[in-house]
Amino acid sequence: MPASVTPQEIEHAIRNVPDFPKPGIQFKDITPVLADARLFAGTIELLTKNFAPGSIDAVVGIDARGFIFAAAAATRLHAGFVPVRKKGKLPYQTIEEDYALEYGHATVAIHTDALKPGDRVLLVDDLLATGGTAAAATSLVKKLGAEIVEINFLIELKFLNGRDKLKGYSIRSLVTY
Ligand code: AMP
Repeated sequence: MPASVTPQEIEHAIRNVPDFPKPGIQFKDITPVLADARLFAGTIELLTKNFAPGSIDAVVGIDARGFIFAAAAATRLHAGFVPVRKKGKLPYQTIEEDYALEYGHATVAIHTDALKPGDRVLLVDDLLATGGTAAAATSLVKKLGAEIVEINFLIELKFLNGRDKLKGYSIRSLVTY
């Protein structure tokens, strides 16, 4: 068992990088959390704490930093890992979902056979900002007939009201700003 960590310890390790990738954005850099063995293990412990191993069929992670946490959570929960990727990256048959960005739009995709109807899914990403990315991922999971049991984020930027796009879901974030 990893040593338990507190959300405050995780928050202290998250590095704020001003004006990345463009002016005005304060990027939340989670690489210091990943590099610390105790913090990384403790983060996965916190993300998965509501579920017993075997109670989740698949942990769905969102491209790209979400993969890191979702894959680790999946092994802990004895669940499969399923990637939601940016358009054009998955090699097999996909379904896609478009969503709006501040300027323009983006598309995410999932393999058509990645989930079965009725599968119990934990959806994971590193950060909830405006909620567009996570909402698009929920649409893909729903189109495949699976059930989202919870949506977990390491970080939530509350002032962007991303939860408004995820109404009806159980949402948990470890660190909020
Ligand atoms: P959104 O669709 O607006 O909720 O954006 C969420 C996605 O963008 C997540 O996958 C994050 O990895 C990334 N993201 C948005 N804002 C930030 C930020 N300030 N720092 C780090 N990643 C961010």
